[in-house]
Amino acid sequence: MTSPRRSPGGFPVVGVIGAGQLARMCVGPAVELGLTLSVLTADPEDSAALVVPSAPVGRHTDLEAVRAFARECDVVTFDHEHVPAEVLDALVADGVVLHPRPSALRFAQDKLAMRERLTAAGVPCPRWVAARDEAELRAFGDEHGWPVVLKTPRGGYDGKGVLVVETVEEAASWLARAADAGEPLLAEERVPFVRELAVLVGRAPSGQACVWPVVETVQTDGICTEVLAPAPGLSPALAERATEVALTIAAELDVTGVFAVELFELAGSRGETGEVVVNELAMRPHNSGHWTMDGSVTGQFEQHLRAVLDLPLGSPTSRARWTVMANVLGGAGEGADELYGTYRHVLAHDPEVKVHLYGKSVRPGRKIGHVNICGEDLADLRERARHAAGYIEGAIRE
Ligand code: ADP
Repeated sequence: MTSPRRSPGGFPVVGVIGAGQLARMCVGPAVELGLTLSVLTADPEDSAALVVPSAPVGRHTDLEAVRAFARECDVVTFDHEHVPAEVLDALVADGVVLHPRPSALRFAQDKLAMRERLTAAGVPCPRWVAARDEAELRAFGDEHGWPVVLKTPRGGYDGKGVLVVETVEEAASWLARAADAGEPLLAEERVPFVRELAVLVGRAPSGQACVWPVVETVQTDGICTEVLAPAPGLSPALAERATEVALTIAAELDVTGVFAVELFELAGSRGETGEVVVNELAMRPHNSGHWTMDGSVTGQFEQHLRAVLDLPLGSPTSRARWTVMANVLGGAGEGADELYGTYRHVLAHDPEVKVHLYGKSVRPGRKIGHVNICGEDLADLRERARHAAGYIEGAIRE
């Protein structure tokens, strides 16, 4: 494997396993800081492989490919959470500097391990059980109420791997599949949340941590479509509570790099402040943090690079009262893959909109980019973000 070419001046090489959109969005900050990125890509056409000169081809599941890649890097981080435990353990044994560390990463790879660990740490979670069979699921549902939310502990994303069941019978095929795989399902009470929130944290190996303002994530059909920063109308007490929960998780799990805690907000009764409970953890820069690229003094990708290199962290202060992020999803109509053709209109229509596209091919519903806009009037910003994203998607024509 040829060594990545370093910038003169003693700069390190940061290796990223996987060459998707997150690796790609590290490129801008890495170039600005003079760092060299190297990405291990499954396919030379992947999003980051198209723009990073050092992009050796190899799968994240191929131990020898990952090892050879890591030997050329000063620190290694991840574009996704799917690197198998055996591969991670081998890297640690080789002395590779990994951030986040496997000991933390496993709680983002396995929702059952996450629930166990957070519950032990006193972090508020929905009530849950590991359900191996019908009897265990029935006992849980009868005690805590139906419907029950079932989750496959590993490999879910964008709501795939989540099933709401009213009865044990509805869970039959999922329980059978779990039994075949020899793994229990995670069963949770259905939380009566009023909305979903997220807290983004950056934490360096030194223990320095920074936290951005709590945001609201708006979901459509199980996919995050919009992020409002900060979460409108969130009581200061609940914002403080959510922040405290995220920082507790960061310290307890010794997380390094940027990571996100997804939360449910529960309504308070009789004028009391509500509550937050943790839905899940993402141990990487996250969709709920894309707004920081334009809305904060330090964006999440720059912060992630600083954190994994154990450099001092940048300020997470907001640049404007509000920032709205809208995801751009792949459209289905004719010409939906002609993305560049939309720029002339979108950029002229609203010069304040910032467009970020990931260099991914268009498939209906696939996240292919996002837009950010900052300002004073939240309703107006939402309208403008939706317009720009909708136009690029091909859903809006004027
Ligand atoms: P994924 O890992 O696929 O994103 P999540 O665990 O985030 O899956 O769940 C997807 C969506 O399902 C959440 O955004 C939320 O709307 C809903 N959901 C998940 N868990 C619960 C729960 N315990 N109670 C109510 N709704 C839930």
